[in-house]
Amino acid sequence: MAEDEREHVRVAIVGSGFGGLGAAARLRREGVTDFVVLERAGSVGGTWRDNTYPGCACDVPSHLYSFSFAPHADWPRTFSGQEHIRAYLEQVTDRFGLRPHLRLDTEVKRMRWDSARLCWEIETSGGRLCADVVVSATGPLSDPKVPDVPGIGTFPGKVFHSARWDHDYDLRGKRVAMVGTGASAIQIVPAIQPEVEHLTLFQRTPPWVLPRVDRDISDVERRLHRTLPFTAKLRRGLLWGIREVQVQAFTKYPSGLGPVERMAERNIARAVKDPALRARLTPDYRIGCKRILLSNTYYPALARENVDVLASGLAEIDGSTLVAADGSTAEVDAIVFGTGFHVTDMPIAERVVGADGRTLAQAWAETGMRSLRGASAAGFPNWLTIIGPNTGLGNSSMILMIESQLNYMADFVRQLDVLGGRAALDARPEAVQAWNDRVQERMKRTVWNTGGCTSWYLDANGRNTTVWPGTTTEFRSATRRVDLAEYEVLRVRGRDSDDTKVEVGA
Ligand SMILES: Cc1cc2nc3c(=O)[nH]c(=O)nc-3n(C[C@H](O)[C@H](O)[C@H](O)COP(=O)(O)OP(=O)(O)OC[C@H]3O[C@@H](n4cnc5c(N)ncnc54)[C@H](O)[C@@H]3O)c2cc1C
Repeated sequence: MAEDEREHVRVAIVGSGFGGLGAAARLRREGVTDFVVLERAGSVGGTWRDNTYPGCACDVPSHLYSFSFAPHADWPRTFSGQEHIRAYLEQVTDRFGLRPHLRLDTEVKRMRWDSARLCWEIETSGGRLCADVVVSATGPLSDPKVPDVPGIGTFPGKVFHSARWDHDYDLRGKRVAMVGTGASAIQIVPAIQPEVEHLTLFQRTPPWVLPRVDRDISDVERRLHRTLPFTAKLRRGLLWGIREVQVQAFTKYPSGLGPVERMAERNIARAVKDPALRARLTPDYRIGCKRILLSNTYYPALARENVDVLASGLAEIDGSTLVAADGSTAEVDAIVFGTGFHVTDMPIAERVVGADGRTLAQAWAETGMRSLRGASAAGFPNWLTIIGPNTGLGNSSMILMIESQLNYMADFVRQLDVLGGRAALDARPEAVQAWNDRVQERMKRTVWNTGGCTSWYLDANGRNTTVWPGTTTEFRSATRRVDLAEYEVLRVRGRDSDDTKVEVGA
């Protein structure tokens, strides 16, 4: 196909989780209809489509973990399970008329900035297209990370990652190893413990776990929310406000978190009577440094007779024998890796080639991930990330951050319209630097950097490139508008692209 005949769209959104669907709904509400949503899977839902492991549920109450512009009065539980959140995202897709924009089973392989035409050339598994603007919503926790354990090839049994659960494999009566103690693992352990013959937990670092105040939402409450929608708003507001106050302890006063640690220690003591096991399960770092997990069933499950907790990471595999770093061993039939995701090495960054011919991964190789207001990287014009660098939260709903980034995206597209003609916005390196310096300065005091743990919030060089060191209100106000002074405006002049000029200047 000749270049000029290639399909052209105003905006290409990559991914159809909360970020991608939110961006699509927002564009439609802004009156932009010339866009596509490119999704590698066969259906929408992102995280909540891929994670189907037993016990999978959200750690944030549903009335807060949902779009403010698409309230749902009928959440069945305070903390909804995966299937309900996935169904909600399907409803959002229909409610905002997003189906015609979806390109499912379409994986983005490569995106290259065309400096002459000021557009992104996108190569997908379903063909090529070009887009004026790319909104990358490929998710922070989307590509599973499986450690390359020596000898894994010799293991004769079943192996899978928590985010790719094999429902055809029956765990009943099997000896199972759970590797990892993150948010997924602590939901999986109590869900499978009653079924398996034996469960061995490989624990490199114990998490802090607080009780989960979870219950059915009554018919009365649901009816109230349906008939008087402001009551659902009020509920959301309360859930949000509590977390806005709580986050101050994480960002400014980590030394004040001692009483919360005592509460978490009581949670262990209530369920675990064996002092040796209690000691193994008690963290030696400040609470909040790693994500605080919520469960009423994790510790009771670990105290059962068919469970062993090895306080050491999985170091080696020799046939069906798993060897921990401290030398202890376990014979197992199946291994479940709850070992997290590629977070600080975002896979999409390898596939995006910017104005100077370098990939985003190469551009970030020395500095770590960094973007202006979590959205724009210098040298990658008209390319916005949803849940970009330093936009993660340790204690509240990611949907709040996503909605802030949608505001920024909407204003970005509006600004391009105002500029008229063919124009592009490229974040100025000094603006990215200034933003990043501010974020890192604030990060110094936070529990994530001072709490004495290593976590997936930190990159290979110990930099925190994932978490937002403030309140969601502060991020909302920082992303309300695009400040053109922070961007170079690129323009194409002339009708024929072969004799176009790119003019740089604000
Ligand atoms: C088990 C689990 C529990 C969680 N619980 C919470 C919680 O309690 N509270 C909270 O705030 N957050 C939680 N999160 C974080 C959660 O990821 C975010 O809240 C949110 O769902 C992210 O949405 P997203 O759209 O950015 O990414 P995702 O939902 O990950 O969607 C990304 C989409 O991009 C697609 N994609 C990726 N690469 C490509 C490509 N190259 N081409 C085409 N498509 C591509 C993927 O297939 C996927 O559909 C949890 C995450 C996990 C994994």
